[in-house]
Amino acid sequence: MQVPLEILPSRRGHAVVKESDPPVLPVCGQPTVPGVISERACAFYGARWVLAPIPDVIHLVHGPVGCAYYGRNVRRKGYRLFSTNLEERDVVFGAGEKLYRAILEACTLVPDARAVLVYATCVVGITGEDLPGICKRAARVVGRPVVPVNAPGFCGASQAAGHDIAARVLLEHFIGKEAGEPVENGVNLLGEFNVQGDLDEIEALLEQLGLKLICAISGRASVATMAQAHRARLNIVHCRRTGHFLAEGMREKFGIPYVKVSFFGIEETATALRVIGQFFGATEVEEVIAQGIRAAKVAAAPFLSKLGGKRVGLFFGASRIGSMAKAFKELGMDVVLAGSQFGCQEDYQEAGNKVASGTVLVDDAHERELLEFVTYRQPHLWVGGTKERFLMQKLGIPFLVFPQENDPFAGFRGFVNLARQAAGLVSAPVWRLT
Ligand code: SF4
Repeated sequence: MQVPLEILPSRRGHAVVKESDPPVLPVCGQPTVPGVISERACAFYGARWVLAPIPDVIHLVHGPVGCAYYGRNVRRKGYRLFSTNLEERDVVFGAGEKLYRAILEACTLVPDARAVLVYATCVVGITGEDLPGICKRAARVVGRPVVPVNAPGFCGASQAAGHDIAARVLLEHFIGKEAGEPVENGVNLLGEFNVQGDLDEIEALLEQLGLKLICAISGRASVATMAQAHRARLNIVHCRRTGHFLAEGMREKFGIPYVKVSFFGIEETATALRVIGQFFGATEVEEVIAQGIRAAKVAAAPFLSKLGGKRVGLFFGASRIGSMAKAFKELGMDVVLAGSQFGCQEDYQEAGNKVASGTVLVDDAHERELLEFVTYRQPHLWVGGTKERFLMQKLGIPFLVFPQENDPFAGFRGFVNLARQAAGLVSAPVWRLT
């Protein structure tokens, strides 16, 4: 069913109300309607989202300093970035030499960097700079890989295009570059960024199954660990959007199979451990799960009475909405909206299967639409990125930032953190909800 709300005619199919199983899905994967100020980011930022945490390379943005400033903060963490700071004269006369000198200067400033990533931006995409040629010339002088990340902001419908370009860069230039035998109990995590310790929670669970984490892309992805990543026996895809392309590529190139799982929520974590445990024939898996569930239920119990029956709206990165919808249901909350800036059919299918009838499913909503949805479904809590935060707070709705700002949400202990933070927000006196 279409949402019974005032919505632009060109946006109508992008928002639907779930009525049946399987649900009718919102239209997705399309460029934003011109003139609409959507919540999406550009492809350049999508590439930064994947590559920013790689610690031992130089990140150099070839573009105006505004793009560099935009790409500096990723998941609310500031990273060191270099920029060629393009100005009008560079656009008119070209900036190839400026880039070449910037690469050399950056390598002088960071002599122990193992490689240089050179990000294209819209300006460079339009002027048509020969990025690969300049990078190749500079690499001969600086004696290390200088790799173009050709994801100018306009090159796709959303940040999702940049995720895939970044994955291609890693596959071609970094993953599996050193020889080594397969590690019998070795795994990689793909699409896991260690937000507030999520990776540590997941690694602790994997260790209980006797598994060894070789590389997490890109939460723990140095040049050295990526070079060894082909030695894993299994790739575990945590964020489907950023991990799938890489997993497919590693399956084709190195023959490593992969599983797609989620560690958000009790049931999803248990399922993930079962799937992984089954692959490795780990006999202790049921005991690990039982212990984790027992402890999480006891610790989360005091918070559940504050959350039971409360309505929650979810609007964030595409492949998390399904598993997070399930986690909020485990908290006893009613998910009234599940949406994303850049979801694909698979994301909305998964989310649609996990929410109840009457839930709004929406792709690429803008601020005006979000206002309509909030008025229509009156959530007690909104979960999303920082762009929606102030709108919701002005409307008097408690807001939980996701990816989160404080504690890990992954694994059994992460579920307890989620319960505590959600309960703290909805019961804070300032919102007068209790
Ligand atoms: S859209 Fe283009 S100009 Fe804007 S931040 Fe992205 S790369 Fe820079």
